[in-house]
Amino acid sequence: MKPGELLYEGKAKRLYFTEDPNVLRVKYKDSATAFNGQKKATIAGKGEMNNRISALFFRFLKEAGVPNHFIDKISDLEQLVQKVTIVPLEVVVRNRVAGTLQKRTGLAEGTVLKQPIVEFYYKSDELGDPLFTEDHIRAMELATPVQLQEMREIGLRVNEVVGKLMLEQGIILVDFKLEFGLDSEGKLLLADEVSPDTCRFWDADTLEKLDKDRFRQDLGNVMGAYQEIYNRLEGKSHV
Ligand code: UDP
Repeated sequence: MKPGELLYEGKAKRLYFTEDPNVLRVKYKDSATAFNGQKKATIAGKGEMNNRISALFFRFLKEAGVPNHFIDKISDLEQLVQKVTIVPLEVVVRNRVAGTLQKRTGLAEGTVLKQPIVEFYYKSDELGDPLFTEDHIRAMELATPVQLQEMREIGLRVNEVVGKLMLEQGIILVDFKLEFGLDSEGKLLLADEVSPDTCRFWDADTLEKLDKDRFRQDLGNVMGAYQEIYNRLEGKSHV
C-alpha cells in the first residue's frame, strides 16, 4: 500500500492510499450506474458535482453531531477521508414510497409514510443487494446488535437534519442510502457519500425529481437536476 496506489475502484468513485495510513483519497467519477450495474453511462460533470454536494452534506452533518469519515475537499474531483472498514450493509431510510418500496408494497409512488422506515440491505453485487432483517444480519455476523441500533439511530438523525435542511430549500427528502465504516478503534462512522446518486430529492412544489431517478427512468437533464440541488444548498450560508 504505497501512497497514491489504488485501493479500490467502485461504480462512482476510486479510492487511493495516501502517505497517512489512516487517510484515503477519494476521486469521484463521471460514471452513472443503476439496476445493479446493468445500466451504465458517463455523465460529464457528475463527479465534480457529487464531490461538492457530498462534501457539503458531510460538513453539515459533522456540525450537526453526526460522526463521519470526511476530512477535506482537496480538488474538483477529490476529497480526503478517514480510512474505515466498510460494514457490508446499505442502510436505507424512507419518508415516502418510491423505488423498491413501491414494488414491494404496491403503494403509489409519493405516498407519505406514517413514520420513517429503516431498511438494511446486504452489500453483495452477486446477490443483487438483498433486503435483510436484523436476524439475517446477526446470524451472518455482519454487525453487532449495538452497531445495528447505532446505524438505525444515526440514519434517523440524518433523516431529521438533512430532511429539515432540504425542506428549507424547497426540496422533499424522499429516501436515501447510507453506508457505515469502523475506524481503527472500532468506532462507527458514516462513510461513502451523500449525494443525488444516493438520495431521492423532489421539488416540494412541483414534485419534480432532482436525483438519480432522472438517469434510472431516462427523464433527461440529469446534470441540471444535480446542479439545482447544489445551487439551492449553496445559497445556505451555514452549510
Ligand atoms: N440507493 C443507493 N444505492 C443502491 C440502492 C439504493 O444509493 O445500491 C438509494 C436510492 O438512490 C434511493 C434509496 O437508496 O435514494 C432507496 O432505493 P431503493 O431501495 O428504492 O432502490 P432503487 O430504486 O434505487 O433501486
